[in-house]
Amino acid sequence: MIAKDRDSGLQPFCIVGNAGTTNSGAFDNLNSLADVAQEEDMWFHVDAAFGYFVSLSTELKHLVAGIERADSVALDFHKWMQTPYGVGAALIRDKECHRTTFEHIPDYLVRQPSGPAGNVFWFMDYSIELSRRFLALKLWMSFKEHGTEAIGKIVDQNYRQARYLVSLINKTPELELVVPCPTIIICFRYVLEGKSDHELNKLNQDILVNIQKKGVSFPSYTTLEGKYCIRSCFVQHRVTIDDVDILYNEVLRAADECKGKYL
Ligand SMILES: *Cc1c(COP(=O)(O)O)cnc(C)c1O
Repeated sequence: MIAKDRDSGLQPFCIVGNAGTTNSGAFDNLNSLADVAQEEDMWFHVDAAFGYFVSLSTELKHLVAGIERADSVALDFHKWMQTPYGVGAALIRDKECHRTTFEHIPDYLVRQPSGPAGNVFWFMDYSIELSRRFLALKLWMSFKEHGTEAIGKIVDQNYRQARYLVSLINKTPELELVVPCPTIIICFRYVLEGKSDHELNKLNQDILVNIQKKGVSFPSYTTLEGKYCIRSCFVQHRVTIDDVDILYNEVLRAADECKGKYL
C-alpha cells in the first residue's frame, strides 16, 4: 500500500498499529509494523487506549512487544487503569518535534530571564490547551494508592473472567463466539439453527436490548463481519466471576423471551 501510494504521487508518512481494537480486543504484531516503519522511514503510532495495560500482566504482556519502538502511543487511563473518566494521554518520543508542533508564545507569555516565569518547561507548549485541568492528579493518586502490581492483578483477574465467559460460550451450543477474542473483549451471539445472519442480527439485538433494560447485566454490542454481537468487556475491578454467570444466565433468559417470533 505504501509503494502504491508513493507511485501515485502521495506521501504516506504514518503507520498506526492497534494494541487492542475497540471492537474485539485484537492486537497487531507491533514488532513487524515497527520494522516496516523503520524501513520506510515513517512515523509509527500505536493506539493502545485500553490495550497498553496488558504490560502490567505477566500472562499478556507479550501482546505489546514492540510498543517501545513507537514514535507515539495513545493511552486511556480511564479504561483498564481504573481511573475515573476522563484521563487520556499521548506519549511522544521526540520532545523537540512535540514542542515545536504546539509552541506558540504570545507577548504576555514570553519567558522571563528568571523568577516564576523563567521556567523553560511550560505545559502549554505541548498541546492545544493553555488553561487546563489538573487531570494528572487522579492518575498520580491512583498510582500512589494502588501501585502497578495491584493494577496488574486486576488485569489478570479480568482476563480470567473473560476466559471463563469464553468457556461458558464454548460449552453452550446456542452460543457462538463471533471472532477470536484474544483478551478481555468477548463478542458472541445466540444462534438458532437454519436462520440467516439477518434474522440472527435482529434476534441478538432484541436479546441485548432486553438485557440492558432489565438492568442486571450491561453488555454492549457491535457488528463484526456482518454479524451483530453481544460484546462483553472486562476492565473493572469490581467484577467478580459470579457476575460472569449472571451475564450468561441473563443471555439465556433473554433469548428464551425473545426467540419466539423468530422460530
Ligand atoms: C476507547 C478507545 C478510543 C477512544 O478513546 P476516548 O478516551 O473515548 O477518546 C480509541 N481507541 C481505542 C482502541 C479505544 O479503546
